[in-house]
Amino acid sequence: MTEEVKAPKKEKIPRHKMPEQEPQVRAHNFEEVPFGYTKEMAMKEAERCIQCKDPRCRQGCPVEVDIPAFIRLIKEGDFEGAIRKLWEKNALPAVCGRVCPQEVQCEGLCVVGKKDEPVAIGNLERFAADYQRLHGRSILPPKADATGKKVAVVGSGPSGLTVAGDLVLKGHDVTIYEALHAPGGVLVYGIPEFRLPKEIVFSECDYLKRLGVKFEISQVIGRSETVDELLETYDAVYLGVGAGLPVFLKVPGEHFIGVYSANEYLTRSNLMKAYDFPNYDTPLVRGKNVATFGGGNVAMDSARTALRMGADHSYIIYRRSHAELPARGAEVHHAEEVGGEFMFLTNPLRFLGNDDGFLTGVECLKMELGEPDASGRRRPVPIPGSEFQVEIDTAIISIGSGANPLLTQSTPGLALNKLGYISADPKTGKTMKPRVWAGGDIVTGAATVILAMGAGRQSSNSIHDFLTFGW
Ligand code: FAD
Repeated sequence: MTEEVKAPKKEKIPRHKMPEQEPQVRAHNFEEVPFGYTKEMAMKEAERCIQCKDPRCRQGCPVEVDIPAFIRLIKEGDFEGAIRKLWEKNALPAVCGRVCPQEVQCEGLCVVGKKDEPVAIGNLERFAADYQRLHGRSILPPKADATGKKVAVVGSGPSGLTVAGDLVLKGHDVTIYEALHAPGGVLVYGIPEFRLPKEIVFSECDYLKRLGVKFEISQVIGRSETVDELLETYDAVYLGVGAGLPVFLKVPGEHFIGVYSANEYLTRSNLMKAYDFPNYDTPLVRGKNVATFGGGNVAMDSARTALRMGADHSYIIYRRSHAELPARGAEVHHAEEVGGEFMFLTNPLRFLGNDDGFLTGVECLKMELGEPDASGRRRPVPIPGSEFQVEIDTAIISIGSGANPLLTQSTPGLALNKLGYISADPKTGKTMKPRVWAGGDIVTGAATVILAMGAGRQSSNSIHDFLTFGW
């Protein structure tokens, strides 16, 4: 009797952990925290993808990247093929690989993740983009013949960059107008260097320039030129101006020196490079006892920046509990690892200051969780008589942001909702004003990079249809 020979069992490959700087080292520098995969790690991690026939990961990507295809190319060692595949749908893969909430999008739906840890799609996307930037040939995707149509994109955040990248590939003549002196939107002024090095954003913008997109920086539309004036020169205008208006706590004492909005604090430290003093002379208080108010990604970025700027204590004061923190789990973990001190179920009542106008402390009230509110999260309820004071010299208000009225108020014919955001068709981005589209945070309110890019993709399809077939 012949003995049946069993095929050797395929060795199970564990998910590759991203190598990163040790917490005690990175707490004192602004260099990027993760180092990225090596070639060998990326190819091995790519082997974990089972190449599903009906890839659910793709459904979780708002810009519909062909995820199994780019991962297969990495597995085969064809890194140029992988970046070409990514570029078919995403002009900013190095950014998305770093800041997208993959755990609730592509990786959240990964079939491998049902029984094991999901394939590290974000890390692989980042690898493909970084490998191309650092070692690849200077290549560009194919571009359609010039159509003679002109498009103005207002705002150079992820939504504007996506619209520009899509339309230039379709042969249109695209110009981006940006209010700040550098392109990238929140990617350059908000998200800190240690999470998203600015060189990477500029390199993705440079890729768009090489495709033919023109950038007009330091141009505040609504002031330097109006949307109606742009419409005289351009066939279509896309508004991707974000939601960068800071929201304050509206408690007494917010005028004291040392109280910042997260927007101002991060813009000074990131875009204006206050962290690199004396090479850059941007003033920013280097507080010793810093309190950040809020629980989102912006709060984590602010608290981590404060520690790197030399704070002894960086408190994160949040009115609900750990379970309700809206920030990504990885960002909370990174904030904890470098010494962020959470004060949960705590609400600020007023800031305290000295006779010279400097911030000296904050009075807070303890909260407890009550019934769920409209957001489905349990409502924080004050505990009477639980007031206490915390000594601080810097406060960073990070409880959200709103729509800046500068452009919308100078553009007749745009319909706005009651919070001042632009009303636009959710499928096409068309606004009530003919030949004007809008998308990203200025339509949805503060959201995510990939949702802003998804909105840009929908608008660029609609703009292309209009330029080809009419409104
Ligand atoms: P923005 O990125 O805000 O860009 C809008 C651009 O328009 C800006 O450059 C602005 O200067 C310009 N502009 C405004 N008005 C005018 C005008 N009148 N004329 C010309 N230009 C104008 N999302 C994630 O997915 N992951 C994260 O980890 C993450 N972290 C974040 C951290 C911080 C600190 C912040 C603030 C946000 C974070 N987000 C994150 C959210 C994400 O960055 C935004 O949702 C996204 O950038 C929105 O893109 P946008 O293109 O709509 O606008």
